[in-house]
Amino acid sequence: MKNLVSLVRAGKSVEAAVRQAIDLAGGLKEIISADSRVLIKPNLCWPAPSGMGFTTDYRVTEAVAKIVLELGPKSVIIGEGSSAGWDFDSSHSTEEAFRVSGTAEVAKRLDVELRNLNRDAYEEVPVTDPYVMDTVRIARTALESDVIISVPVLKTHLRTLVTLSLKNMKGVMPGAEKRKTHQLGLDKAIADLNSVVRPSYVVVDALAGMQGLWEYPQDRFELGLIIAGADPVAVDTVGTYLAGFDPAQVMHLQYFAAREGKQADLSQVVVVGEPLEANRQRLRAGFDLFQSRYPEVSIIVGESVCTGCMGELLGALAAIKKFGDDQALINLTVILGSPNPDEIAARAKTVVLGKCAQNAAHLGKYVKGCPPLSDDMIRAICQVSGSDGELVITSRNEDRQRRWEETKSLLER
Ligand code: SF4
Repeated sequence: MKNLVSLVRAGKSVEAAVRQAIDLAGGLKEIISADSRVLIKPNLCWPAPSGMGFTTDYRVTEAVAKIVLELGPKSVIIGEGSSAGWDFDSSHSTEEAFRVSGTAEVAKRLDVELRNLNRDAYEEVPVTDPYVMDTVRIARTALESDVIISVPVLKTHLRTLVTLSLKNMKGVMPGAEKRKTHQLGLDKAIADLNSVVRPSYVVVDALAGMQGLWEYPQDRFELGLIIAGADPVAVDTVGTYLAGFDPAQVMHLQYFAAREGKQADLSQVVVVGEPLEANRQRLRAGFDLFQSRYPEVSIIVGESVCTGCMGELLGALAAIKKFGDDQALINLTVILGSPNPDEIAARAKTVVLGKCAQNAAHLGKYVKGCPPLSDDMIRAICQVSGSDGELVITSRNEDRQRRWEETKSLLER
């Protein structure tokens, strides 16, 4: 049987668009009853105001929560555990992501509980017929939920090409478990994870997202759409196509579809609402842009690399390019992920980043952490280049402050 996926253009009211998208895709009445414990799972990978494209827009989360509450379920929780490495020290927390995105205000307005899933109790659950994870640790809140609504923001992704409803479920794993998925093979691990905590329904924030290297504002794009559907394979297939890619290229989608005996293919989907083809964009994938934006940098990436290290590195490189010495990035080599050190020739100006690359630490200036902090990367890169890292950090902080002031208006809409 073909699955319904709706595509609705958001006008002035995001809530109206979410309502229409959910109605067109069959509604939530079939899956939510008075006994249901509902988990709404936005993507709040780190603290960024709604509208920048990094995180799920609070207006989408709010509309979904209102619709769920109208059905009178037993309980509703908005839950998330931000990216790998978060919530392990005092400088990074999911609560900050709740607050900065505007989601904390939503929870307050609707009197719904917010839960940091990185700090939740968890259980180790066996995976039947696993690809790579025999067992997976899952936040108890997710396991105890009868209905999970995945509310991702549509973005391209360096490792998985796109991030949609299936990848969004990584937030229900406690922090250390997220890292394990990168070491074992991210795409297969996402398929294993979703076989244990499969989303019951999906509402995609495709209003504005991030492509390429996720550098703001140049990599932000606008689609202005809401996508909804009950089948995560069908919704992610449509979202992938809408982003300009072939669903056959998204391996976690293919692995998960195979697990469910389905095909992640448009021939299996009925799209209602806006026409698919007319709304399709050609988003840029991450690594395609890296060499063109940083031709002077050689990057050696091992299999386990994840957005934790890549994200911090891209932030560091952008800051050095903008505020640092012109020569700092020339002939720079960066090693990250889990490389084989025997296959890497030693070069003069090399930095080695993160716990995964510890075995290659002797090849350059090593920066510890999982992920290492962007500031420590800046210091290390500037040190091997003989330039002033502290100056870069100070200038970047001043610029960041100015940008936060500029983007406050996005939060106030
Ligand atoms: S060290 Fe870096 S690449 Fe490895 S798991 Fe941590 S953040 Fe990801």
